[in-house]
Amino acid sequence: MNHREQLARQTLADVMKKLYSRGLISVYGGNASMVLSDDNALLITPSGFNKESLKEEDLVKVDFASGKVLGEGKPSSELRTHLAIYGANKEAKAVVHAHPTTLVGVCTAGYDFGVYTPEQALLVGKPMVINFCMGEELAERMSALAGTCQAVVVKNHGVFAWGPTIMEAYAKIEILEEAAKMVVAGNVIMGGLGVSSISDEQVLDILKNYRPSHKSQ
Ligand SMILES: [Zn+2]
Repeated sequence: MNHREQLARQTLADVMKKLYSRGLISVYGGNASMVLSDDNALLITPSGFNKESLKEEDLVKVDFASGKVLGEGKPSSELRTHLAIYGANKEAKAVVHAHPTTLVGVCTAGYDFGVYTPEQALLVGKPMVINFCMGEELAERMSALAGTCQAVVVKNHGVFAWGPTIMEAYAKIEILEEAAKMVVAGNVIMGGLGVSSISDEQVLDILKNYRPSHKSQ
C-alpha cells in the first residue's frame, strides 16, 4: 500500500468518526468513498460497520471502472449510488452520505430549502430534494442529478454530498445541517415564517466577491 492510499484511508476513517461525533449519523449509518486516482480505484466504507470504531484497514478498495472488490471486505450497499455520482460529475473525487436529522426533517416535510448562509452559497448552493428511493432507483436518480448540483437530500433518509476532496464533501453536509438548524430555530420563534433565504442577487454577489480559502484541503 502506498503512502497516498494510507493517508486516504486515515482521512476517510476520520471523516466517519467526525460524522458520528457530530450527530450526523447513527453508529451503523452513513457511508463515504474517495477516489484513488493512482490506482483507478475507490476506497469505500464497509457494509454495516460501527462507524465510531472504524479502522483504516476496514475500508474496502474497489475497482473504479467495474466496482469489483480488490482484496477483501464487503463494500457499503450504496456503492452503486457512489459510482453513479462519480460517473455524472467528473469534479467529484469524494462522496459523503449522512443522516442529518434537521436537514432531512425539514426537506421531508416539504419545505422549499433555499440558500441561507454565505458558506452555503459558496460551497453548496441549493440542494436538490428527491422522494425516498433506494438501490438501483436511487443510483439512477443520482446519475441524472449529480452533474447539476452539489448535494441531494433523499426524503425520509439522508443526504449525499460530493466534492474534489473528502473534507469538502463532508463540509457541505455540516453547512447544510447548520443552515437547516437556523431555519428551524427562526421558524419556531416566528411561527413558521421566520427565516428567508438569501436572494439570487446576494448569492451572485457572494460568488463574485468571496473565494473559499479551504478549497484545496
Ligand atoms: Zn443512509
